[in-house]
Amino acid sequence: MRRLFAVLLFLLAAPAVAATRPDLVVVVSIDQFRYDYLERFGPWFSERGFNRFLKNGANFSNAYYLHANTFTGPGHASIGTGRTPDENAIVGNTWFDRTAQDEKGWQNFFEDSGSYSVPNPPQAQGPYWYQTITGAPRYCVEDHRVVVSAGTTGGMSPVALAEDALGDRLREKFPQSRVMSVAIKDRAAILMGGRKADAVYWFDPNLPGFISSNYYRYDPALFAFNQTATRYLPSSGQWTLSGTIPPDAMKNVTFDPPDAWPFKNSRYGTHFDHPVANMRALTYTPFANDMLLDFTSRIVDVEGLGTRGTPDLLFVGVSSPDNLGHYYGPDSMEVAEDAVLLDRSLQRFIDGLDAKFHDRLLVAITADHGVQSMPEIARLKDPSIDAGRLDFRNPRKEAHLISELPAARIDIERSIAARLNIPFSADAHLSQALVAFFEEPSLYINWDRVRALKLDGEQVKRALRDVLLAMPGVGAVFTNSELLIANANPSNVERAVRLSFRADRSGDVIVELKKNWIWSYGNPNTTHGQPLPDDQHVLMLFWGAAVRPARYEQRASPIDIARSVGALLGFDAGGRDAQVLPFIDARQTALATALAQLENGQPYTLVVPPSATADVRSVAAALRKVVSDAPELPAGYARLDALEVNGDKATVRLWTGPIPKPQPGVLSMNCGTGHTFSLVRDANGVWRITSRGVAQC
Ligand SMILES: [Zn+2]
Repeated sequence: MRRLFAVLLFLLAAPAVAATRPDLVVVVSIDQFRYDYLERFGPWFSERGFNRFLKNGANFSNAYYLHANTFTGPGHASIGTGRTPDENAIVGNTWFDRTAQDEKGWQNFFEDSGSYSVPNPPQAQGPYWYQTITGAPRYCVEDHRVVVSAGTTGGMSPVALAEDALGDRLREKFPQSRVMSVAIKDRAAILMGGRKADAVYWFDPNLPGFISSNYYRYDPALFAFNQTATRYLPSSGQWTLSGTIPPDAMKNVTFDPPDAWPFKNSRYGTHFDHPVANMRALTYTPFANDMLLDFTSRIVDVEGLGTRGTPDLLFVGVSSPDNLGHYYGPDSMEVAEDAVLLDRSLQRFIDGLDAKFHDRLLVAITADHGVQSMPEIARLKDPSIDAGRLDFRNPRKEAHLISELPAARIDIERSIAARLNIPFSADAHLSQALVAFFEEPSLYINWDRVRALKLDGEQVKRALRDVLLAMPGVGAVFTNSELLIANANPSNVERAVRLSFRADRSGDVIVELKKNWIWSYGNPNTTHGQPLPDDQHVLMLFWGAAVRPARYEQRASPIDIARSVGALLGFDAGGRDAQVLPFIDARQTALATALAQLENGQPYTLVVPPSATADVRSVAAALRKVVSDAPELPAGYARLDALEVNGDKATVRLWTGPIPKPQPGVLSMNCGTGHTFSLVRDANGVWRITSRGVAQC
C-alpha cells in the first residue's frame, strides 16, 4: 500500500520549511583574539570548547579582515553586515563629523578618550580650542534621540550604520524570525545586530548591569539578572592563575618576565594576582565572560529563541579579552590564562545550546580584530627591532594654545608651516593650527584656517602627507583625494585603506604605521587598528548544522559569515567582497535557496550545472541529486517523490523531513513535509515554478 499524496492536507500558505536549516544561528565575536592564540594555547583547551570547532567543525586558518581600520566598531559592523567599512560606513569607533555642533558629543569624547595634557599649561584666555573649530567627534553608536534603559550614558543605536545587515535580511525573509545581540561593549552588540534587531543588550559597568536603549524592543524583566551580577566577582577578591596551563608550559607560550611588567598597565596590577574589587575590574578578567554567557543563555530561554520554526539569529560579543589584552598585551600570561578559561566558558555555553537544539544549531566564532605586542615588550624580546609609539592625541578640553599639543603634533604644525611658507608660533591659539582633529588613523584639516590663509587645499593635504611620511614609525600616508581616484593596482595597504574609507567620515589625510608601532594614549597599553597581519588575522570557526568539518586554508574574511549564513538560510546577505564559504555544501545552499523561494511563491529557476534549465527532467534530476547527495542531511531527509510532464507543463513533488519510523503497509519515504510545484516552460525554454503547495503528513 502506498499513501496517497492527494489526500494530504493541502496548504496554500506555506509553513516553515525545517528541512535543512538551523533553527538557531549563534555568531560569537571574541573582542581581540588573534588566530595564533588557537595554536599557542591549543594544547590546554578542553574537549568541547574550541576543540568542538577545531576537531568537529570548520576552521578557517587564513581569515583576515580586508579593511585597514581594525577597531572594534568597524570589526563588529563588518561581522554583522558582511560588508567592509567603505560599505557599512563604520570607519572607526569615533570619527569627526564636519557638520555637527554637538557639545554632548565633545563632552563624551573628553570623558572617554585620553586627551593630551601638558604638565604646566599656560594661562590663556578666550574660548577653549574645541569651541573654535567646526564639527564634533561622533561615537559610532551614539544617538541623542534615544535613551538607555538605565544609567547615565548617552543614547545608543545603530543609526550610523549603513546598508542591510545579516539580521535585517533575515527579518525581511522570515518576518517571524528574531534577531538578538548581546555584549559587554555597546558598540559590539549594536553593530552586529544591525538596524532591525529585536533586542540588543550591553553592560554598563557604572550601573553596574546590562542595559539597552529604547531604539529596541528590549525585555525589562531580563534586567533582574543585574541584581545577582556581583556573584561573578571572585570570593577571594582576586584573579589568580588557575594552573590550567602548567607554570613551565606557561613560560614557553608567553613572554612575561618581571622586566616586562613595568610596560604593562598598572591599574589592576601588572602581574598575577590581580585585584578584582568591583564590577568594572571584573570586565578586565575572564569572570566577565561567564557573566555575559549566562545572561545570553537566559535570553535564549526567555525569548524562546530557535523554537518557533523560523530561524533565529543571536550575536554574542565577548568583550573582556580586549580590555585585558590592551592592558597586558598578547605576550602576557593574562591573555593565555583568559584564552583557556574562555574555552571552558564557551564549552558550558554551547553544551547548554546543544542539549536544547542538537542538529538545529549552527555556531560561528570569530574576532573583531587582533592586536600588536607592546612596543617596549617587543623590543625587550628583540632589541634590534624598530618599535615605538606615536602620540597624535588631541589636547585636553581646557587647552587654548598650539604649545599644549603633544610634541609630534607641534612638529607637524611647524613643518607644514615651513613647507607652505606661512607663519608659525607655538604660542598661537589652537584655532590657528592646520590640523583640527586626530582620530586614528585620520587627520582632519582645519578648513577655516586654510580659507583664512587663502591656501590651496590640495597643496595643504600633500604638504601634510609629506611631513607625516618623514616621521618615525609612519608606514604609509594617503590624502582623501588620492583615495577618491581609482587605482587599478593598489598596494595591500592601500587596498585595505580604501576598504575603510568613506569620503564623508574619514579624514583628509590617513596615516598607517609600521609594524611594532602603535598610536599612543599616554598609558602603558597596547592596541590594534592597523592593516597588519597581527591586527587582521583572526580566528573563524563554525560548528553544527550544515557544517562540513575540515581545516580550510584558503583566504577568507569574517565578512563571509553573513553571506554564508544567508546562503544556508536561502537569502542574500553581505557586500561586494563577501563570499559563500565552502564549509556549507553547495548542494545544501541550492536546496535551501529552492525551498526558501518556494515559501515566498516566487518564480524559481533551479540552476544546477551543467545547464539544468534546458529540460524539466534535468531540473528534477538535478534537484534529486542535490537532495540525495547532501551528506550533512540525515539519509533520506529530503526526497524527490514524483515528476509528471505534460508538454510545457510539469509537476514536481518533493518530501522533506526525517524518514518516519516504518509502519506496516506504509511506504514511509512519502511522509514529512510535501512540496508540490507546478512548472511551466517559458519562451526561452526555461522551466519556471508558477505555483506551489505544501502538505503535511
Ligand atoms: Zn575590539
